[in-house]
Amino acid sequence: MQSDRQIQLMFIGEAKSLDFLNSIMRPETGVVDWMETGTDVLRWFVLSDLATEDEVALVMRDTASLGRYMQEIREFREEFRSFVAEISEDPSRVAGHGMVARINGILGNTAQVLQIESAMDATNRPYQLTYHSQLRGPEDLLPRIAATCAQLICEADLRFVKNCEAEDCSLYFLDVSKSHRRRWCSMEVCGNRAKAAAYRKSKQRP
Ligand SMILES: [Zn+2]
Repeated sequence: MQSDRQIQLMFIGEAKSLDFLNSIMRPETGVVDWMETGTDVLRWFVLSDLATEDEVALVMRDTASLGRYMQEIREFREEFRSFVAEISEDPSRVAGHGMVARINGILGNTAQVLQIESAMDATNRPYQLTYHSQLRGPEDLLPRIAATCAQLICEADLRFVKNCEAEDCSLYFLDVSKSHRRRWCSMEVCGNRAKAAAYRKSKQRP
């Protein structure tokens, strides 16, 4: 069972699509994968606010095909990781990238419903009209993730998609700090480790 600290660490991405990448990580204790089993994946969906408990209960009814779709999600996670590694080096590479068509393909395979919902900012109008992707079964899990990836591509400032600077850290985040100087997944984990290493190095100098 993963610790609370690991749960916190998984959600440092400031973008759901990057949290998705971080659902497999290499903390001090070795690799932790939050998508090892179908139940893991569904728990991750709830923790990430990508699905409600009720929706997950519906998906659980079809455990037979959950395994197959889960494998697809895991494969897509690595495809998307390669893409993010590329664009974090050079954001201009997003133009014409195969990942755009790949995501559009996934999104084209799901049903959207239009709903009246309470408005986020109720000062002007009480309701807003929102599209929601339906979660009818395990086949609709990947499109929900792909929607967050599409959001990153279309709405985030890709110049600030960063990999934690610690050499052995796999975590990605969107640097939304004002100064855009964020370097670590978390100060408690990699930041302090780097500080301690720098201190040890400075002590070694004659
Ligand atoms: Zn890190």
